Amino acid sequence: MDILEQIGWMAEKFGERTAIKSSQESLTYAELERYSDGLAAWIHRRYGDSKIPVIVYGHKSPWMIVCFLACVKAGKAYCPQDISIPKVRVFDTVRSVEPELVFVVEGELEPQIGKCLGLKEIKKIAENTEEKSCKEWWVKGDDTYYIIFTSGSTGKPKGVQITADCLNHYLDWSVTLGGGREEKEGAYFLNQAPFSFDLSVMDLYTSLASGGTLFPMEKELQSDYGRMFAFLEQADINFWVSTPSFVDMCLSDRKFNQALLPKLQAFLFCGEVLTTSTVWNLMERFPDAKIINTYGPTESTVAVSDVEITKKLLQDISAAGGTLPVGCEKKNTFLEIWDEDGKPLPDGKQGEIIIIGDTVSTGYYGRPELTEKAFFTCERKGKNYRAYRTGDAGYKKDGQLYYNGRIDLQVKLHGYRIEIEDIENNMVRLPQIRQAVVVPNIREGKVKSLTAFVTGDMGSQTPLEFSQKVKQDLKELIPTYMIPKKIRHIDSIPMNPHGKADRKYLGGLVG
Ligand code: AMP
Repeated sequence: MDILEQIGWMAEKFGERTAIKSSQESLTYAELERYSDGLAAWIHRRYGDSKIPVIVYGHKSPWMIVCFLACVKAGKAYCPQDISIPKVRVFDTVRSVEPELVFVVEGELEPQIGKCLGLKEIKKIAENTEEKSCKEWWVKGDDTYYIIFTSGSTGKPKGVQITADCLNHYLDWSVTLGGGREEKEGAYFLNQAPFSFDLSVMDLYTSLASGGTLFPMEKELQSDYGRMFAFLEQADINFWVSTPSFVDMCLSDRKFNQALLPKLQAFLFCGEVLTTSTVWNLMERFPDAKIINTYGPTESTVAVSDVEITKKLLQDISAAGGTLPVGCEKKNTFLEIWDEDGKPLPDGKQGEIIIIGDTVSTGYYGRPELTEKAFFTCERKGKNYRAYRTGDAGYKKDGQLYYNGRIDLQVKLHGYRIEIEDIENNMVRLPQIRQAVVVPNIREGKVKSLTAFVTGDMGSQTPLEFSQKVKQDLKELIPTYMIPKKIRHIDSIPMNPHGKADRKYLGGLVG
């Protein structure tokens, strides 16, 4: 499918249908089409065929989507940045993209950046430009459609480039998850993840491709159960897309059950380990909803495998004390397990998960050295594909893929992807810290929290004051979800026999 054609078709056929409905504002398909076309015409008139990406800064406003579509209809990739990202990191991204244009839909970015366009101006242009976008301008094929920045081990985020073809191939598959195209036609979708995380692509574009209605849930609602459940009740969604951590949080309230969401057809999960206990809980509270586990990194366009967790599968896995599978690969994708020398391993043997297929990214924006390390090309069934070394450990059994942690220092905490070194490198930027080693606290195969062991100057502060000050200072440098829960000051970092920080020993102290 071509997503832009598909949205245009939806606007023609179901123009009055609501495409996006936040708690503040909603837009119909006709409005989405007209406004994104008008804004695209304006962008193209000003910036011509330039391929420099546009940054779109904001949160859950439906106008974020107008800007995304306007960019790609004007032939430019967009790069979403959520307002919860610390400004220092947003500026790092701005510096690496060097955009000609930044849309500031919500929050504030000026005066540090000169080329910003605020919501008032965006609306004025979009609502008053009658011109249509020209199909020749649209991003297509191997043109980059969006760039999503993820945690990078150097302490600066790296931008994953996803092409129009990647997104279109991904959507051919995602519209079938948890129910066919007919069931999705006009369905209601929950959007939980910020648009700067690729999980949001699963709900946003699957909804638009199906003529559905997307319900973006603002961050402040997500931390207020009363308002969140009122939002969910009113949205009456059919397809739930979130991380398992988010659903675990909802499950902690008994009101989260089928009576709240009577029309729910399926839970679609991705991004981190889905535990058997979460699924048991969901099956008890939502007996009629399907539960789908999907797997994949941002670098392969959201997800590449899926499996429905049935009661039988859950019972078998629970009885054996095993972990849930992450699914079978989608069409035109090959999930292989390789050893350290790059040799494919047989079923049952654990190694690194390699993704080969038509939704693998073209690499990291402006970072050829990183791209070369992680990406390569590979022939399968007579066709050349891009391939990606995930850094995930896993094995295959009976066609199913099983995830078994990481081979490096990346973790998933509450659904967020974090490079441990990203935190450490930012911690040592603080004047009071000399060295920092961050270790995860893991239970049931899932990271529950992070502890930082640090050396440096505590001055006259108590350990509690020191830890509070470090956390406060870190807010300027990294997102809140990356800040370690515990900061422990120690005299020196213990070393292993190779002369490296002894992460294993420190990990044992937090278990
Ligand atoms: P992200 O790029 O933020 O989507 O994070 C990708 C990483 O999340 C993968 O490389 C895995 O480590 C992890 N991940 C994604 N899906 C799953 C899953 N279903 N089960 C366990 N881990 C997952």
